Amino acid sequence: MSTGKINVTADNIFPIIKKFLYSDHEIFLRELISNATDASLKLKTLARLGETQSELGDLQIEVKVDKENKTLTVSDRGIGMTTEEVEKYINQLAFSGAEEFVQKYQDKGDGANGAGIIGHFGLGFYSSFMVAGKVEIISQSHKEGTKAAHWTCEGNPEFTLTETEKADRGTDIILHINEDSLDYLEDHKIRELLNKYCKFLPIPIKFGTKELTEKEGEGEDAKEIKTTVDDIINTPDPAWTKKPADLKDEDYKDFYRQLYPATFEEPLFHIHLNVDYPFDLTGILFFPKIKPNMDLQKNKIQLYQNQVFVTDNLEGIVPDFLMLLHGVIDSKDIPLNVSRSYLQSDGAVKKISSHISKKVSDKLQSLFKADREDFQTKWDDIKMIIEYGMLSDEKFFERAQKFALYKSVNDTYSTFEEYKEKIKNLQTDKDGNLVVLYAANKEGQHSFIKRAES
Ligand code: ADP
Repeated sequence: MSTGKINVTADNIFPIIKKFLYSDHEIFLRELISNATDASLKLKTLARLGETQSELGDLQIEVKVDKENKTLTVSDRGIGMTTEEVEKYINQLAFSGAEEFVQKYQDKGDGANGAGIIGHFGLGFYSSFMVAGKVEIISQSHKEGTKAAHWTCEGNPEFTLTETEKADRGTDIILHINEDSLDYLEDHKIRELLNKYCKFLPIPIKFGTKELTEKEGEGEDAKEIKTTVDDIINTPDPAWTKKPADLKDEDYKDFYRQLYPATFEEPLFHIHLNVDYPFDLTGILFFPKIKPNMDLQKNKIQLYQNQVFVTDNLEGIVPDFLMLLHGVIDSKDIPLNVSRSYLQSDGAVKKISSHISKKVSDKLQSLFKADREDFQTKWDDIKMIIEYGMLSDEKFFERAQKFALYKSVNDTYSTFEEYKEKIKNLQTDKDGNLVVLYAANKEGQHSFIKRAES
């Protein structure tokens, strides 16, 4: 057994972790599950390279709540850590930025930027001390002939590290939940957080079990058979990570329902984003039906980094008019743990924004070209987003000239060029300039329209 002091020169970082990160306690679960996911993906990579003797087997991550003992455990079957690795990665490296962290933020008591700082300084794992007074790590490395490690820390710089036995490869992180955070022992709370942050992580995450009911036989003899199965809360391979060529229209609709289980309306069409140069970007955007007088919802697009949920507030990250779209954007180049203002000024994020705007206009134009008839039937539902885009984004305005439609009082649609062509010999003023007559309300302005038509 060894005891020692965690390598941090500042007196005690724990009170600061607890105080400073006040506003965003819940992200500890995202951090722990991201670590578990990373550890599992690393092992997959090693297996592919033939650099581990360990049988991969089922790489499921499990989250368990024990109300009696007031613990929350995150277990993975990833690469694990030896005692030396715990010493290095948990005791030393995880704190490498801590001193700077303390100096810079000690006096700024409010937690507004809390989530930003935490990962920035590699404090991901230590965020568990926001909700736990004591944290244990029990880990068995994938490396043959190594002993398991048991690390315990009670929210102060003193830790203990001993060798132990652990049957299975991988890591258990055991949080002894604080009295003021007992909420995190409630099934519904954990389920809510897993759903929010982990819904599309690439490794299956189990939380409890569920019952499946299957019918066996026909008619009178039909029997209901109940089986208990693991409740996997995530979809490890969401549609946006696949190639567009491998997906059917129905798959996109299914994905839409996964994203918005409470929405009955179907999207009009989708745009599958798939870029790997000059930056990494994948995602699927949906054009919703937007009816006049409908409540506009701006926070429907979810931003992910490598399948980890970051935010659904994309203000300043995508152009305003595109915030009315639905769907998912995922980029490895998006910094995970930074504040909103940092995100908005980030170079990669800015490029992503203008790229998305271009992709959207490209898609609209190709839909227009491929099937104008169909495009016209959708126009009334999508025009608000497009017109808003044309008004607010000059580049989009230029591109949209090719497909933006103007509906006339007799229900025909034309682009502005086509319309000018139609009226060029009909509607001119005394100096020969084209006159475009515009009515915003066909019924209300009926008499004016009649007069203009005659
Ligand atoms: P970060 O994940 O940003 O590197 P953390 O403080 O969350 O910072 O973790 C520090 C290090 O501890 C990780 O980089 C990793 O090497 C190790 N680690 C944390 N959790 C696990 C785990 N579940 N399995 C294996 N290693 C882990």
